[in-house]
Amino acid sequence: MLRLHDTAFGQVAELELRDPGQVAMYVCGPTVYDVPHLGHGRFSLVFDVLRRYLEWSGLRVRYVSNITDIDDQIINRANRDGRTTEDVAAEYEAVWWEVMDRLGVKRPDADPHATAYVEPMVGLVARLVAAAKAYTTPGGVYLSVDAVPDYGLLARQSLGSLRAGARVEVDEHKRSPLDFALWKLAKPGEPSWASPWGDGRPGWHTECVVMSLDLLGDGFDLHGGGQDLAFPHHENERAQALAVGRPFARRWAHNGFVEVGGEKMSKSLGNYTTLTDLLAVHDPRAYRLLVLRSHWRAPIEVNVASLAQADASLATLDAFTRRAAELPAGEAPAGEAAAAADSAVLARFQARMDDNLDTPRAMAELFDTIRAANQAIDGGDAAAAVPLAAAVGEMAAAVGLALAGADAVPPEIRELVAERERARAARDFSASDQLRGRLLALGWVVEDTPRGSRVYRGG
Ligand SMILES: [Zn+2]
Repeated sequence: MLRLHDTAFGQVAELELRDPGQVAMYVCGPTVYDVPHLGHGRFSLVFDVLRRYLEWSGLRVRYVSNITDIDDQIINRANRDGRTTEDVAAEYEAVWWEVMDRLGVKRPDADPHATAYVEPMVGLVARLVAAAKAYTTPGGVYLSVDAVPDYGLLARQSLGSLRAGARVEVDEHKRSPLDFALWKLAKPGEPSWASPWGDGRPGWHTECVVMSLDLLGDGFDLHGGGQDLAFPHHENERAQALAVGRPFARRWAHNGFVEVGGEKMSKSLGNYTTLTDLLAVHDPRAYRLLVLRSHWRAPIEVNVASLAQADASLATLDAFTRRAAELPAGEAPAGEAAAAADSAVLARFQARMDDNLDTPRAMAELFDTIRAANQAIDGGDAAAAVPLAAAVGEMAAAVGLALAGADAVPPEIRELVAERERARAARDFSASDQLRGRLLALGWVVEDTPRGSRVYRGG
C-alpha cells in the first residue's frame, strides 16, 4: 500500500482507507479569473499522477475538485473589464478545462461550483453561529478560531505562535486576527445571495469544506492542494468541520512550488509563467515529465534547460515506442491480448511509487528499462525485449505519460500517408516522394518498414 507524506503529522505514513479498496480524494481547484499558470499545472499533474497510480494499483478512486466561480478576484476582473462575474468565470473555466485536457489531466468525477452550493454554505454558517463558534460583525460572519481545539495543526504551529505572527488586521471588528470570514456582506453592485445576516457571498474556506463533505462524506481519505493552501485555507476548512463535530480529511497532501528561472519572464526567452504559453511551444507531456522527475513535495525549477531536458527524454521515449512497435507480439498466454510485462521491473517501479510517490526514481526505472530493451533489440534478442517493452508501457500508463502512437496522428495526416501508400503500390515513386515532402513540411516523418509505412512527429 502507498505510503504518503501527511502535512498534519509531518511524516510519511501508510494511506489507511475509510472504505477498503476505495479512495475518496478532494483537491482544491482553480478560482477562474485568469489563464492557469505553471503552479496550477503542477498541482493538477501531481494529483493526477497520484490518482492514476492508485487506480493502476487496483483501487477505485473518487476524485472531486471544485471550481471557485465567485470570489473577490473574479469581481475585480469583471469590474475592470466591464463584464459580469458569470461571463468572466465562464470564459476562464473553459480555458481551464482546455488546458487540463491538453495536459492529459483526467477530469474529476465531480467538479462542484461554488455558486451552486451557496444554500448549504449558508446552512453551515448558521450552525456555526448557533453553536457560538462564529459571530457577526458589520462586515459579515467570522469563525472564532479559539473555538477550535487544535487550530494550527496544518500550519504545524500553536495558536499562540500563529497569533504572534499574524498580520495586523484592518477589520477592527474581528475578535482575533486569525478569525476568518464565513460570510461577506455585499457592497452595492456586487453579486450576492440572501442570508439571515444580510445579502452577501460565502468565504472561500466555507466553499471547500461544504462541497468536499457533501460529495465525499465525513472522514474522506485525502485532501490535497498546493503547499500555499495548507495554511490558512485548509486549516480553516478543517476548523469549520471540527467546530460542527464532523470528521474531516484523514490525510493531507501538499505539493511543492514552481520556480521560474531567469529574471525576465517572456515567451521569447522561454521563461513562461502561464500554461497556455508553455503549451504553445512544448509537448504537453514535457511538463508532466518535468513534474514527474521532481519529488512532489520539492520545488521545481521550470526553465529553458529543464524543459529541453524533458523534450529530449520524450524523444527517447517516442523513438523507443516506434522501435518497440516492430517487435513481435510475444508469447502472450492464452486469452491475454498483450505481452506480459517484466514483473521484476514492475515490482521495483511499484516499490518506488509506494515509497511516498517517489516519481523521480520511478522515472529512472522507466528510462533504465528503455535502455535495457534497446540493448536487447540491438543484440537481436526480441524475446528479452518484449516483456521489457510491455513494462515500459505499463509504467508510462500508471503515471499518465502518453506514448506517441498511431492514435495521436490526426486524420488529415493519416489520409496523406494512405495516399502515399497507394502511390507506392502503383509504383508511382515521384508522387510518393512528393507526398513525403508534403508530410515533412507539416512536421511529420514517414518511415517505410517491412510492416508498412509509419508516421511520427519530427523533421
Ligand atoms: Zn479549497
